[in-house]
Amino acid sequence: MFLFDQLIFGPIQSRRLGLSLGVNLLPTDAKICSFDCLYCECGFNTTMQESTIPTRTDVYNALKTKLQEMLAANQTPDVITFAGNGEPTLHADFEAIIDDTIELRNEFCPTAKVSVLSNSTRIHKPHIFSALNKVDNNILKFDTAIDRTLQLVDRPTGKHINVAWFIDHLKRFEGRLIIQTMFLRGEYKGEKFDNTTDVEVEAWLKALVEIRPQQVMIYTIDRETPIQQLEKISQEELNKIADKARKLGLEVSVAE
Ligand code: SF4
Repeated sequence: MFLFDQLIFGPIQSRRLGLSLGVNLLPTDAKICSFDCLYCECGFNTTMQESTIPTRTDVYNALKTKLQEMLAANQTPDVITFAGNGEPTLHADFEAIIDDTIELRNEFCPTAKVSVLSNSTRIHKPHIFSALNKVDNNILKFDTAIDRTLQLVDRPTGKHINVAWFIDHLKRFEGRLIIQTMFLRGEYKGEKFDNTTDVEVEAWLKALVEIRPQQVMIYTIDRETPIQQLEKISQEELNKIADKARKLGLEVSVAE
């Protein structure tokens, strides 16, 4: 499995995002998440023994040093993205780290966007909600509007998580969010799942109409996954799903 072995990673040149600098607020030797998705490219959740979570000061210093180095090399990031080995909002100082990042961005690269990739499980916490409202790209996972699929594929660790809970809390952003959805099919422990069926897509579209995100990003499996019985969805199928969402007035991008 793939783990980010540094606190700050990149910059990576991407066609869609431009020059992207990544921030990993989780340990560099373990994946820690409030989901345990069957498709997670970091593998299944691990325990934290021997692992260390970077402090707010570590993040500030590492980001500042990296931005100074980039500036000296005449490079400016287009985006600073919080992703990495698990769920970034699990960090106890998440909001303060976002404030620091915005301050550093304003000082060193005012045109760069700050993006957070989160699985949405902690948006009910006032400090997480507040932090996500401050970033440019608040990218939140919403893989399915069917509870059984959520439990089977995303495998939330918290008991409070179900589809109705997600919809309620995602609506509270009043459109200041980008929804990210992974489409896939497969089988795990004898149970099949497929979030591209008509029933699934209809429920997903209905939820999106309620949530009204500024954008929807859809994608499928790209890298190695912790289990083998997963099937990638064809570009053609993804495009068909995207078109259905566009018909409802949603802006949709399909990852290639
Ligand atoms: S939410 Fe992201 S990091 Fe967490 S298990 Fe799922 S894919 Fe992995």
